[in-house]
Order: sequence, then C-alpha cells, then structure tokens
Amino acid sequence: MKASASWLDAKYSFPISDYQGEEAQPNGGCESRILIVDDEARMRASVKDLLEAYGHRCSLATGGADALAVLAREQVDLLLLDLNMPGVDGYEVMHRVQAEYSDVDVIVVSGETTFESATEALRCGAQEFLRKPYAPEDLARVVSRALKKRALERNIQEMHRCLEASEHRYRFIVNNSPDIIYMLDSEGKFAFVNDRIKPLLGYETEDLIGRHYSEFVHKEDIQKARFVFDERRTGNRASRNIEFRLLCKSSSLPYRYFESRTITIEMNAMGVYTAPEGDDKERYVGTYGVARDISERKRAEELINYQLYHDLLTNLPNRSLFRDRLNLAISQAKRNKNKLAVMFLDMDRFKMINDSLGHLAGDQLLQTVALRLQSCLRDGDTLARVGGDEFNLLVPDIAGREDAGMVAHKIIERLKGPVVLDGYEVFVSFSIGIAIFPEDGQSIDVLIKNADMAMYHIKTHGKNGYEFFADNMKSAFHRQLSLENGIRKALEKKEFELFYQPQYDISSNRICGMEALIRWSHPERGLLLPDQFIPLSEETGLIIEIGNWVLDSACRELKSWQQLGFNGVQMAVNISAAQLMQPEFERRVLEVLKKHGVAGEQLEIEITENILMKDMDQAVSKFQQLAANGVRMAVDDFGIGYSSLSYLHSLPLNTLKIDRSFISGIESKKDHSSIVTAVLAMARELDLEVVVEGVEREAHVDYLRQLQRVRAQGFFLGRPEPAEEVRKLLRRQQDA
Ligand code: C2E
Ligand code: MG
Ligand code: MG
Repeated sequence: MKASASWLDAKYSFPISDYQGEEAQPNGGCESRILIVDDEARMRASVKDLLEAYGHRCSLATGGADALAVLAREQVDLLLLDLNMPGVDGYEVMHRVQAEYSDVDVIVVSGETTFESATEALRCGAQEFLRKPYAPEDLARVVSRALKKRALERNIQEMHRCLEASEHRYRFIVNNSPDIIYMLDSEGKFAFVNDRIKPLLGYETEDLIGRHYSEFVHKEDIQKARFVFDERRTGNRASRNIEFRLLCKSSSLPYRYFESRTITIEMNAMGVYTAPEGDDKERYVGTYGVARDISERKRAEELINYQLYHDLLTNLPNRSLFRDRLNLAISQAKRNKNKLAVMFLDMDRFKMINDSLGHLAGDQLLQTVALRLQSCLRDGDTLARVGGDEFNLLVPDIAGREDAGMVAHKIIERLKGPVVLDGYEVFVSFSIGIAIFPEDGQSIDVLIKNADMAMYHIKTHGKNGYEFFADNMKSAFHRQLSLENGIRKALEKKEFELFYQPQYDISSNRICGMEALIRWSHPERGLLLPDQFIPLSEETGLIIEIGNWVLDSACRELKSWQQLGFNGVQMAVNISAAQLMQPEFERRVLEVLKKHGVAGEQLEIEITENILMKDMDQAVSKFQQLAANGVRMAVDDFGIGYSSLSYLHSLPLNTLKIDRSFISGIESKKDHSSIVTAVLAMARELDLEVVVEGVEREAHVDYLRQLQRVRAQGFFLGRPEPAEEVRKLLRRQQDA
C-alpha cells in the first residue's frame, strides 16, 4: 500500500480550477434566482429584460421593505440592490441579509459615486459594486461572475461535507476495529493510533502520540518488535504475523487492572511512502501496522503445551518432558565430564490400595506422594510421573553413587509417615532403582531401562528400598518377566495345585479343618511356594483368576471328602484383597458352593486384617451376605496388622488365626504372659474360635493343650500335603 504523506497530517487540498470566466455566460451555468431591488420602475424593468436575455430567472422588488418580504417568502440566490431607496434602504437590507440570509449573495447597483459608499457597501457584505450608469454587458458579466463564484463555493462546501462524512466513516471503522491500528512516523514515534489501545493496553490515544514504540514493548521482545515497527518493506515482503508482548499501562488508579500485565499481540506492518510527484521519488514517511490481541490464544496454547508435557493429576512433568530434560542433562554432563543419576521409583502395593480404597483415594494418594517426593529435591532435579504409580527422577551434577544414594535414602525416609485417606492411615513405600551416567548407560533409553531393572530387582527382593543397577540384574529381570508370562500359562496348563494343611482340635487331637494352600509345579523350577508368585499375581491382577480356581478346586475336594465319609472337616481358603473387592465376590462364592453341593458352614474364608481395613464397609456387607448363607470367616495372621480391634464387633467373624510369630517365642507351658493367652481370653469374650498358627514344636502343643477350645496348625502337627496324602491322613483318622 502507498499512502500519501498528507494522510499523516490530515491536511487535505483539492484541485479547485481557477475562476477565469470573465466572459458573461448565459445563466452563469446554473439555475439561480435573482431579485432586482430598485425604487425606479424603469430601472427594474430594464435590468430584468437584460438578465432574462441571458437566461436568468428574475423577481422584482420595489424597495427595501418589499425586498425583505420577497426574501422571507422565496428562495433567492442573488440580490441586485440599489442603495438609495425611500424607507428601508440598501444598507439596511444588507444588514438583514447578513443576519438572516447568509447564503444570499449581494451585488450593489447604485448611482452613489463616493469611495466611502462603495467601501461601506462591501463592508456590509456586498460582493460587487456596480456604478450607475453602466454598460449592459458589464452588468451581465458581474452577475455571471457572482453566480459562478457562488456555484464554486457551493461545490467546495459539498465536498467538505462529503469528506467529513467519509472521514467520520473511516474513523468509525478504524476505531471500532478489534485490532490496534497505528502509524509511526519515520523516527518510530506514534503518529496515529486507534481507540482500541484504551481497552487493550489502558492508554489514552494521546498518551502514545509522539512517543517511541519501544516504551511500550516488553523488554525481552524488543528485538522482535524492532523488526516489525521498523518495517520499511511493502507488499508481500512486509512483516506478517510477528508475535510479541506489549506492556499495559500500570500505576494510575483507574487502570490498575492492567498493572504489570502484558498482552501478546500478533502484528502485521508495512512501510508507508509518499506518492511520487513529478521528478521527486517516493519518500519513506513511517510505518503502518495492525496489532491483534492474541493473549487468549496464547494462554490456550500455553495450556495445551502444559498438558502435553505434564501429568495433570500431580502437575509433575510427564514422560516426554522428562526425556527432554534428561537429553539436555546428558549433553551437559558429557561436556562437563559430570555424573548424573536416573531413578525409577515405583510405589509398593499401589494397585492393592487403588483397588481397595477406590480410584479417588488412589489419586489423592498419588498427589500427596508427589508433593512429598518433590520436597526431597533440589532446584535442578526433575521428577516426572511416567505411569500409574511410577515416577522417574533425574538428579544431575552428582559427584558419585553416594550422592544418589543419599537422595534415595531421603525419599524413603520422607515417605515413611502415614497418609490419611478417607480417615484411614495408609503407609506407602517405594522401590527405587538407580542408574548412573556414564557407567550404567549413556543414552536416555538405556539409563531409564537400567534404572527400571534395578527397581524391579528391589521390588522382588523385599520392596521399600533402593538399589543401584548392576549387570547381573539383567538375568533376574528376565526371570521376573518370564515368571509373569509363566503364571498366565500355568492357569491354562493346569500347573497349579492345592496342598492342604490340617488344623487340629487340641483337646480331642482330631483334624477339624484343612487350609488350602496353593503350589505351582513349575515345569523347570519345580514346586514353587505362594510367596514366589502370589505377590506378582496380585500386582498383575492375575490373582482373580487364580483365586477363582482355588475356590473351585477346594470346594470340589471338600465334596469328595464328604463323599468318602470324612465329615466334620472344614475347608479354609485364603482370599486376596483384589478378590474380595470384586463386585460379584459373594455371589461367586455362593455359586461355587451350590455347584459342588457343599454347605456354607463347611467353608471358612481367610482374610488378613490389612485387607479388611481397606474398605471396611464393603467387607462388612459382603461378609454379612456370606454369613447369612452359613459361610464362616477367619482373620488370618491376626495380631501383626492394625492395632484397632473395633472391626471385631462389626464383622460376622468366626475365627481368629493367631500369627505364627506369637507362638514361636513360647518355650514351655508355663509361659503365661504370652499374647496367645491374652488373645484367647478376648476371643472367649467375643465367642470366637482361635487357631494358633506355626505350631512347630512339642512345647507348643503342650502349652496349647492346657488352654481350652483352641485349634492348632503347624509343621509339628502336619505339613501342607497334596490332596492324595491328605485323603490318606483323613482315612487313618477315620479308621482310628
Ligand atoms: P497363610 O494363610 O498364613 O498360610 C500359612 C502359611 O504358613 C503357609 O505357607 C504354611 O505352609 C505356613 N506354615 C504352616 N505351618 C507352619 C509352621 O509351623 N511354621 C512355618 N514357618 N510356617 C508354617 P504357604 O503355603 O507358603 O503360604 C504362604 C501364604 O500365601 C499364606 O499364608 C497365604 O497368605 C498365601 N496363600 C497361600 N495359598 C493361597 C491362595 O490360594 N490364595 C491366596 N490369596 N493366598 C494364598
Ligand atoms: Mg491362611
Ligand atoms: Mg496365616
């Protein structure tokens, strides 16, 4: 675009052709009405004839008063006025015309010859002074000239009016534009800015005029702004869509809203030049530009960006951002010959907590844990959430393993305190694997993978602690992976088996129950005990399927015992948290009982205290339904879990199984201070049966024998055995 310099100054000039028409032209080129005012009738008639001969339209007035009457009545453009008239004279008429009919032109036609009368007439507004007697052509020429001038003036007026309207229209459009529209002069100072500046930046337009643009640009963006504000190019090469920030007006009270705020704008600008005139080349006069407020869009973009690189639950960086930061940290460490640590953190038993307390509590736990983790970190560290309960931590600039170890230790210590969820205290712990750059890996992927492997290692060797990556972990890791796949296949290949361990009624020395304990006859590794695969099954969710199989097999076995006549033996089956929390758990148990034709009273479900505490309400309602169908309920490993015993009253409990750690310390039957004695006393109060687990020695049996109503289970009395052996045992008892 080219704009003329005059645009800037808002000065306009228009080509008005010179008034040259000295020759009288018929009608002066327009339809004008002339009023001839003279007290001499002859004079009036001759002027009229003359002017009509030139095509003018004339009216007559016999004197000043008559003239004023005609003026009041008719549209008149030009007065041919005599001065000396009786009554109202020419001067008075002119005064009235000046006051009331300003658009009527006056030519004085008079016999007055003095210079004073002529100047007085001109002072009173007359355009011309024609002295009597005159040549008819002179009159015609004077009239024609007056009418022509008048027509020109009218034209100019009309043009001004049009221009004003047009200016008004453009100003309206410019000021109501949603964008800031401005012009800078050649020095970069504002020459024009539209009203939009006020609502967007808080400035009045006058605040900007004459000031340099750099005063209004965020200092970090000056470079970019210079690029557009100094734009001299035009057309396609001009600046387009350049983004930067403008400062809003601060301090002054009415605009506090804008205080220390910036808006982001997108700007298009181009140079403005004068139109070339004659030999003069076009000249640069400034720039013209349009700035659009894109703050909203920027905020949306920032939000999207944030969401792309952050975990929205914990507000921590996500995997992508972590990889970015790690990449950067590796480059820096290489350059500075530094070390860095990558840690893989996995919460222990999170799945169980999540399944039992619900996802809302799970989320809350993750948020609390994220905060605690963050409190252990320095400024340059990056903690990211990379999966459900998995976090990655980058600790750059460390001197060696000890530094990383200290951070891990700090994390473990900091997480020790309980987290209160839904009124319950939950204890969390983390398994942390650590890989050090450069010795444990030099790329993002290898470092993360090795940290993960170290984490897996600690997880399968006791949890809650940290471990550094070591080469030999690779095989352990792969064993763990193949274990998980193995569990899946074991179900299909029927590699699981139930062993049964007898429970004895101590006073009668007879078997009153059997506990079903799962074994896995692994094709390569032989017979595996539950602790080698149950925790992993719980973590992976496979426990549901395994649990269903256990329940079904145990009930089938129980039925077969009954069919063989071994009555009065209860079957105890262990249940995991995930199983209990299944919505259809109780219905499934009842279905299995029905399927095998076993009475509910013959089945005892064992559950640990910890599982009960996760969701007491659910547990109560499920067990109540089961109890209504006779199914018994036992609390397993009693005494090592929660200290609160309030649940004993709310659950339909039948049996407490005292954890084997309590009997193990008993040396003789005189050991009365034992907790076993205390629990037995309490159980009697509550009308509960008691099974003492871990009876390994004769002294234990001796000790229990003196107590009444107690059942016992342990290697001394009978180890868990396969179904066949157990049948033999039952037969021997029956025969005895
Ligand atoms: P638990 O329910 O407390 O089972 C008793 C465990 O103590 C059994 O270990 C049993 O072999 C062991 N035991 C019995 N008498 C003695 C003794 O005198 N001394 C010692 N040191 N140990 C004794 P096992 O079979 O290895 O089972 C371990 C745990 O695995 C069980 O503890 C139970 O919590 C879980 N478990 C076993 N079978 C299943 C199952 O089918 N489903 C579920 N969810 N968990 C199971
Ligand atoms: Mg048990
Ligand atoms: Mg137990």
